[in-house]
Amino acid sequence: MQTRLAVIGAGPGGYVAAFRAADLGMEVTLVDEAPKPGGVCLYRGCMPSKALLHAARVLNEAREAERWGITFGEPAIDPQRLRAWKDEVVAKLTGGLAFLAKQRGVRCVQGRAAFADASTLAVTGTDGTASPVGFEHAIIATGSRPARPPALTLDDPRVLDSTGALEIDRIPSSLLVVGGGYIGLELGTVYAALGTAVTIVEMTGSLLPGADADLVRVLARRMHAIASAVRVNTTVQGLAPAAGGIEVTLAAPAGSDPKAGAAGSGGGSDRRQWTERFDQVLVAVGRTPNSDIEGLERTRIERDDRGFIRVDAQRRTAEPAIFAIGDVAGEPMLAHKAFAEADVAVETIAGRDAAFAPRAIPAVVFTDPEVAWCGLTETEARRDGRRVQVARFPWGASGRALTLDRPEGVTKLVLDPGTEQVLGVGIAGVGAGELIAEGVLAVEQRVKASELAEAIHPHPTLSETMGEAAEAFFGRSAHIHRPRR
Ligand code: FAD
Ligand code: NAD
Repeated sequence: MQTRLAVIGAGPGGYVAAFRAADLGMEVTLVDEAPKPGGVCLYRGCMPSKALLHAARVLNEAREAERWGITFGEPAIDPQRLRAWKDEVVAKLTGGLAFLAKQRGVRCVQGRAAFADASTLAVTGTDGTASPVGFEHAIIATGSRPARPPALTLDDPRVLDSTGALEIDRIPSSLLVVGGGYIGLELGTVYAALGTAVTIVEMTGSLLPGADADLVRVLARRMHAIASAVRVNTTVQGLAPAAGGIEVTLAAPAGSDPKAGAAGSGGGSDRRQWTERFDQVLVAVGRTPNSDIEGLERTRIERDDRGFIRVDAQRRTAEPAIFAIGDVAGEPMLAHKAFAEADVAVETIAGRDAAFAPRAIPAVVFTDPEVAWCGLTETEARRDGRRVQVARFPWGASGRALTLDRPEGVTKLVLDPGTEQVLGVGIAGVGAGELIAEGVLAVEQRVKASELAEAIHPHPTLSETMGEAAEAFFGRSAHIHRPRR
């Protein structure tokens, strides 16, 4: 078989690339091991986790309502039905994508792709036979998989990665979450709401390392309240199966946590070790790019030392007819980054002038409260010695936040003090994932603080906190509504 464009992997990068190419009149073959498009995002990532997080939010709100005089009683949770509902959402979405592929005439081939050479794939189908697919152009969108360092590897069904943790079949009595990043915090939130005693351990000194400390603080307070324990600067030294649980050897700097120290059993001079037993363990310590594609060495494609495929601004690899997008092409490993790269790669293949050069890729951690940011962070500005001005609006002064009984949030703008342009936006609070969209537009369009302050935001909404933060930049005496010229 010969095709104009072969797309390997039908996740957010791959299916968007295939659809866009078909819309531009290209003949497209989309190869994936799964029967329907969707990739990690739809089958075992974004969508199932967000369905479960919605259930967690309902449970939390029902409990919080006691403060307002509304008592529902203890919820009865049926993990099988919860899982079935989550599966239904996934099936609807993947079914929808299969329909859209058919409607556009995209040829979907189920199988595992390898490179026979730089212009031919060998696709091994479900029956085990390999068929050649010659291509003019190819896009690699093979995504990523959970990382599993040796100390966190144990062949035991009670040690889960994110895929396993999303397939809830029972509610564990206790769960150790290894990794205080996106997945650990989102799924830790889900299990805590379901009633599991959750312990989170994070290797670095902070949850969500890299994110601005003032945003993380808002979430950390909540995580401390809903989890049994949150331990930073803590690593797992080993896992061992035991009766009634997994025995975990943990290590932390001596004197960092007196409670854990009491249970400790010695260790190095500046680190102490102790063991704890957990019903289940979730390992969420990052993801590894799926760049170990068979036959890649038969092409000129290069990988960096972390395994990401090297690409240029058009997402072209060192093999001029082959492009790479999404998780396999570098961080951030986010679905919307893959969507945008897909458009760039396809437009380039179609002969259009395109480049991947966003000013703002939003990051959203869908915890409760959510944490979201885009553009330049305060942490990056400090690291790079760039002078910025930060304007903050604490949600304790937001009427809408008070009516929601969630005043703990904060909205902040990172601004260029000379031009007043919004360089970055950070939000921690309920609904931050929706609110950040305005921030993305502000950063992309180089909006000035005065323009953000002047734009009338609906009242009473959390979106007002964007305008309020912009006003905070100028102070109370600012002249806001100037006549238009
Ligand atoms: P993937 O979605 O990983 O898809 C790659 C596809 O390639 C897979 O279907 C795989 O079967 C196929 N494939 C691999 N190798 C081959 C081969 N040799 N031959 C044929 N097919 C192959 N991102 C967000 O933006 N928002 C979120 O809320 C979010 N939540 C997440 C929650 C979890 C639990 C996880 C794990 C991830 C989450 N992500 C989220 C990240 C998001 O899922 C990824 O960034 C996104 O799926 C990457 O898309 P992709 O197209 O690069 O690859
Ligand atoms: P992550 O990189 O977000 O977080 C991993 C965390 O584990 C880090 O904080 C790291 O310091 C810590 N860590 C690493 N090794 C450790 C060890 N041995 N012991 C203790 N802690 C350790 O990775 P993730 O949470 O696995 O998620 C992977 C990627 O998937 C994310 O980076 C993100 O790109 C994507 N994702 C996005 C969303 C979203 O957009 N809402 C949700 C889930 C996943």
